[in-house]
Parts: sequence; C-alpha cells; structure tokens
Amino acid sequence: MKSANLTRNILIGMVLGAALGVVINMVGPATPGFAWLVDGVFPVVGRIFVKSLQLLVVPLVLLSLICGTASLNDVRRLGRIGLKTVAFYLATTAIAVSTAIVLAVLIRPGDGLSLDYTAEFAVRESPPLTEVIMNVFPSNPFASMAEGNMLQIIVFAILFGVATCLAGEPGQRVLRLANDLNDIVMKLVMLLMQIAPFGVFALVARTFAAEGLPAILALGKYFFLVVGVLLVHLFVTYGLLFRVCTGLSVRTFMRKVRKVQLFAFSTASSNATLPLTLETVEHRLGVKPAVGAFTIPLGATINMDGTAILQGVATVFIAQALNVDIGVQGYLMVVLMATLSSIGTAGVPGVGLIMLAMVFQQVGLPVAAIGVIYGVDRLLDMVRTAVNVSGDCVVSVIVAKSEGEFDFDAFASVGDD
Ligand code: ASP
Repeated sequence: MKSANLTRNILIGMVLGAALGVVINMVGPATPGFAWLVDGVFPVVGRIFVKSLQLLVVPLVLLSLICGTASLNDVRRLGRIGLKTVAFYLATTAIAVSTAIVLAVLIRPGDGLSLDYTAEFAVRESPPLTEVIMNVFPSNPFASMAEGNMLQIIVFAILFGVATCLAGEPGQRVLRLANDLNDIVMKLVMLLMQIAPFGVFALVARTFAAEGLPAILALGKYFFLVVGVLLVHLFVTYGLLFRVCTGLSVRTFMRKVRKVQLFAFSTASSNATLPLTLETVEHRLGVKPAVGAFTIPLGATINMDGTAILQGVATVFIAQALNVDIGVQGYLMVVLMATLSSIGTAGVPGVGLIMLAMVFQQVGLPVAAIGVIYGVDRLLDMVRTAVNVSGDCVVSVIVAKSEGEFDFDAFASVGDD
C-alpha cells in the first residue's frame, strides 16, 4: 500500500473507531453484543498491533545507532550532537511546562471546585536520582535488550559503533552486515505498518467506549486547558522554533509528521511509535541516519514535552481546587521536576501520572488527588504522546540541519507522506 493511502486509511480507522466507541459508550459498554467487542476483539487486535511495533524497537535502535555512529566516524562530533540534542530536549520541555503553568495560573481551571479525592491512586516509589544515573550504564547488553532499557541500549550501541569504526577491516565487514540488517528491519517496519488501520481502529474504539463525554465534561476546564496548551506548544512553540532554527516550511513538516502523530495518538506510547518516527525522520524529513538514529531513540525516552504540560496544568489545577498556594518556588520546582523526571522514564502509556506523583510529593500536594483526573487521563495521554513525538522530530531536524546531516530533497519531496 502506498504511504499516502496508508495515512488516509489510518485516519479512517481512527475516525470510525472513535465513532463506534462513542456509540458503545452511550449505549453502555456492558450491553450484551458490545461486551465481547470491548473486552475481547478491541483489546486483542489493539494489543497485537502494539506488540508488532514494540517487536522492532530494540533491533531497530541497536542497528540504526551502530550504523549511525560508525558512519559519523568522529567521536568529538558525536559528543557535540549529543550535547546539542539533550540541550534542545531539556529546553523545549522547560518551555512546555512553563507555558502550561502560566496559562493555568491565568485561566484558573481549579477555582470553585470542591475535590473529593478519596479516589484511590496507587503511588509507585520513584527511584532516587543516583540510581537513575547509574541505570544509564549497562552491565549486560543482552539483559538491557531483554528489558528494553532504551538508555542502556543507546549507550551500548554508541560504544559498539565507535569500536566498529576503530576496528579497521573487521569493523567495516560488521558495518556492512549491520547496514544490511538495518535495511531489512526497516522493511519489516513498513510491512507491519499495513495492519495499522485495524490496530488504530481497535485502540481508539476501546478508549472512546471506556471514556465517555460525562467524565470529560465533569473536568471540562482542566481537560480542555491541557488540550489547548498541548496545541499551543505543538503549533506555536514548535512552529516558531522550527522556522527560526531551520528556515524550512513548518507546513511541510507538519504534513510529514501526521502519520507519526496518528500512531502516537492511538498507541499512547512514544516507544511503540519509535520505529515509525525513525522511518519518518530519516526517509521523509531528510535527517541523515547519523543524527536520526541518535536523536529519535533518545527523544522517545527523555523528551516528553506533552507530559510536562500535563504536569504543569495538573499541579496548578489541583492546588487551586484544594486552595493550596504552592508559591513561585513550588512552580519552579514543578518546572525542574517535570524537565528532569522524564529522563529516567520510558515513553509508555500512563507514565505521565507516575511522574506527576513525584512532582506532587516534591511540592507537598496529596498524591491521592491524582485519582480525580485519572478518569480522563487516557484521552489526554493520547494527545500528549502525539506532542511528545512531534517534539522529537522537531529537534531531530534542527540538529541535523545545524550539523549538515540533512537532505533537503528528501524533505521537499512530495507524494509519499
Ligand atoms: N504516554 C506518553 C508517551 O509515551 C507518556 C505519558 O505522558 O504518559 O510519551
């Protein structure tokens, strides 16, 4: 199937899934005849789809990063690209959470609400920072791969890529093999993509069947404010940043990342979307593998602007609803925590709330209050994941362009997006 057709079919799958989900939600998901869809067909099809994407994440990150590092053939340049990427990721996240806090303080979504937060929200203990840092370094690459520990895989692949470069003829032989394997895995990505319209349909239908309009309306101001800030960040902050830093067309960029956004939206996982994000930046946005293979896996793990926005709005919302003043210092703490807490957490569904629990603990808000917003979180998770992956793509193009690792013709090409 041609890529443009695939995008169209995914969109159709999403719209049909949302429509069916809303109908099921209105009639009642437990109604006989619907229950087998909601509890049987949708989760099975959706899960198979997500698994088929996850299947490729580890081999793809490993192979593309080994090939990318080796093709760069310059450790100092690699270091510069790394620093630039991390700086952009942290800066955009800090901007995202600051925008969220400022808008939420101005719009005051929590005023006049009386919260009953007896609703349960189980807190998972977050690891201390020292452990997060130590955890970046692998001791057994196979264990890292089996666990899907992205940062450890990244470290191992870069070291292996550098050593491949230094190893002369044997290194070149391994590199040729790695390049061939990488091409094959990329082909597999495209093959498995063909089931995407069905997978997206099932995932979206299930979410909309479970989360109805009443839940959204009850938290309307909060819900729409989070969505609003996410859209501002996507179109205004990224738009400006992209234009100013690259001089390229924002419209073309947005058109080319549409499919990635749809995937992220339906799976609510930056990690599961990673194979498509990588394929898109390298083949459609013109980022050369040396940069794409590094920025995208790193971004899927440490860059979560949408998630930071959730944390900003949710903190202000709950603080206002409970009539607690956390002060400027508290807000600065939220910026710091939201920016840094994403480093050690993988891009999987619902992780944003776990990070929010850490923020609440820091600023002294009751973690149990997160239960109040839990009911609408899956839908918000979908939107913020789409923003998370868009941010990865923006930074990837900016870094590639600034390093001369950018193919303008691929970016400007039409017809295959
Ligand atoms: N689901 C998000 C992601 O994968 C993380 C989150 O906000 O929960 O990027």
